[in-house]
Amino acid sequence: MKLLVALLIASCAHAAGYRAGVAAVEITPELPFWLTGFAARTRPAENVTLPIYAKALALEDGEGGRVVIVTADLVGVTAEITSEVARRLEQSHKIRRDQLVFNASHTHSGPAVWPRLHIAPVTDPRVDRQVEAYGRRLIDEFTKVARQALDQMFPATLSFGQTEAGFATNRRVDHLALVRPGRSYPAPVDNAVPVWKVTAADGGVRALIFGYACHNTVLTAGFTAINGDYAGYAQQSLERAYPGAKALFLSLCAGDQRPAPRGKAELAVQHGETITAAVRKRASSRMTPVKGRFRSAYEEIRLPFQAHTREVYEAEAKSSDFYAARRGKAMLAAFDAKRPIVDTAYPVTAIAFGDSAALVALGGEVVVDYALRLKKEFGPDRLVVAAYSNDVMGYIPTHRILREGGYEAGDSMVYFVQPGWFTDEVEELVLDSARRLLRRIGVRAAK
Ligand SMILES: [Zn+2]
Repeated sequence: MKLLVALLIASCAHAAGYRAGVAAVEITPELPFWLTGFAARTRPAENVTLPIYAKALALEDGEGGRVVIVTADLVGVTAEITSEVARRLEQSHKIRRDQLVFNASHTHSGPAVWPRLHIAPVTDPRVDRQVEAYGRRLIDEFTKVARQALDQMFPATLSFGQTEAGFATNRRVDHLALVRPGRSYPAPVDNAVPVWKVTAADGGVRALIFGYACHNTVLTAGFTAINGDYAGYAQQSLERAYPGAKALFLSLCAGDQRPAPRGKAELAVQHGETITAAVRKRASSRMTPVKGRFRSAYEEIRLPFQAHTREVYEAEAKSSDFYAARRGKAMLAAFDAKRPIVDTAYPVTAIAFGDSAALVALGGEVVVDYALRLKKEFGPDRLVVAAYSNDVMGYIPTHRILREGGYEAGDSMVYFVQPGWFTDEVEELVLDSARRLLRRIGVRAAK
């Protein structure tokens, strides 16, 4: 009798098992609408060459652990949007902040994202209102798509594996060769393409979530139509290959990575197909079954900016450069309000999928060194490091890049309306946070 009860409990526990839910919603804005990502664009988008989507994957481990991943074909997500969605999901579905990750594909052919990711040389209150209204729509759409995924869960199995793509290149080398010729610099890349597969009880694939560390910028500034770029094409073609499944793209540590070749519409399709072929091959061979509990942790740290004075911005506010003048005025306003900006909030999430795979999701445009270091420490076979998650406040350089200088080191901060470069502490602050959270959820260093 005792044995029978034990068996029944065991089979019930098994029957509870993993559950998954997946949903998608189109988020293409009403046109015309300003795109963002390239400062050089001079007109808004008036047509769509590939619709853009927000998607959600909800997972449950049968023992109370839950994870919700929301991905979007956007240049980035902002804390203003994601914190409100998190608040609503906490209210309606008791999803904790640490169980929720938002990730943007970093397409530069996507709409401006309220309030900060609005890189367009335009000072028109009507455009500002349009961008804000679209930001409010994103809050509603993200909430809706996550709730749909949570409300339509079905018994499922989850498996994990990795493959590779080869079109990412380190974009800093060209710049450094130009400003400091004759010297050689490290040019790290990370070609890993992690894949999670969700399979329903009938054996059908219902969701694929995959990532790559490469700027989603095959389509350059001359393209002014809404488009999800290579990541959008990869998702579209995977969904065609797996009818009834949704494909979700995670942007990894692509801060200093760009696709090559690029600049032609057909190349976005081609790179998308490269990823699709790799993911299909990986998903149809033996993957590691994910078993055990989901564990997650979240924290917000502060990343300090280098000290700056009011005088710098007084000069900058008078600049003939649109972006310099915009930043200068914003910083002066902060000084006037007696709240000069000294640091920024920085979100970090860590999720363990049983003991088979773990995800660190970092905010901002994180350079690839972060992923390479954390993967070395915690095991490249099981750790995935995503960037562009929960908020994008600027580039996240390492010590090395701060020393080398250039766009990712801090010259880009003007476009994000941030005061300037981060201090030398940035690298260790971010790495320490990731390590602390991984430890908290029981993911141990590889050695
Ligand atoms: Zn970027």
